[in-house]
Amino acid sequence: MEKTVIRIAIQKSGRLYEDSVKLLKECGIDLRNVKDRLKTESDNFPMEVFFLRDDDIPQYVEDGVADIGIVGENVLYEKNKDVSVVEKLGFGKCRLSFAIPKTDEYTGMHDLAGKRIATSYPFLVKKYLSEKNAVAEIHEISGSVEIAPGIGLSDIVCDLVSSGSTLLMNGLKEVETILHSQAVLIRNHSFNGEKLKLLNKLVFRINAVKKAKHNKYILLNAPNDKLEDIIALLPGMKSPTVLPLAETGWSSVHSVLNEDVFWEKIEKLKEAGAQGILVIPIEKMVI
Ligand code: ATP
Ligand code: ZN
Repeated sequence: MEKTVIRIAIQKSGRLYEDSVKLLKECGIDLRNVKDRLKTESDNFPMEVFFLRDDDIPQYVEDGVADIGIVGENVLYEKNKDVSVVEKLGFGKCRLSFAIPKTDEYTGMHDLAGKRIATSYPFLVKKYLSEKNAVAEIHEISGSVEIAPGIGLSDIVCDLVSSGSTLLMNGLKEVETILHSQAVLIRNHSFNGEKLKLLNKLVFRINAVKKAKHNKYILLNAPNDKLEDIIALLPGMKSPTVLPLAETGWSSVHSVLNEDVFWEKIEKLKEAGAQGILVIPIEKMVI
């Protein structure tokens, strides 16, 4: 019987390429000779990888040419294909926003009425306009949307923004956001059995990597009379590990801290009497 492999489509080159390959690597999936290939495979996980333009990924996954794919939500929702999102991946963050010339006034969507909007996202823009009962002319262009007003092609743009510096350089200001986007793992609907087991295995690993990124391992020294207060500050995966130090009256405390509460906790731990605090990145976290 032929061995089951899961086929994943990722961006061939561009903003999502490196993070996609890195994510697979962090999941322990090594890819053979990635450079300048259309397709490669892994030696240590039953996976084939297709390198495609991001715009084509939803279609390939809907058709089942690839089983799963990594693509930005912006592209996914623009293409409107019949695939489902398995997992948000936390990279490739950006937003799809309207931008107008810096010197123009903006009070709301009604200011866009009758204007010409240049965008690579005609489907999403049209949908948003109709939700807001606004009417405008949409000009679809495939790249360098931000120069359209400068060359007289449009009055406004609707384009991807991360820092906003590209807009600024082109004399534009962001006025309204349609969509907040990040890279997601998508899947074809129709597979199950062995292939689904492979997808679940991958998702399990992705979650371990994601959790690890959000947490830090922390070690500190505590005088025994302060231990109770210090332990109360630490959630840990179960409860913190406490080990006696060679110096009597002192213990070493080990725990895991979430990055959202990290700095605040560190300060409280110091106030509670903790010393010699060490913080270490976690590579994988399986709960
Ligand atoms: P391709 O050749 O694959 O069609 P592309 O030029 O369409 O590439 P990239 O510019 O590489 O695409 O962007 C890929 C994705 O990265 C975007 O669709 C979006 O999800 C994400 N992204 C994150 N930040 C930004 C940003 N500041 N500008 C554009 N895309 C961004
Ligand atoms: Zn593209």
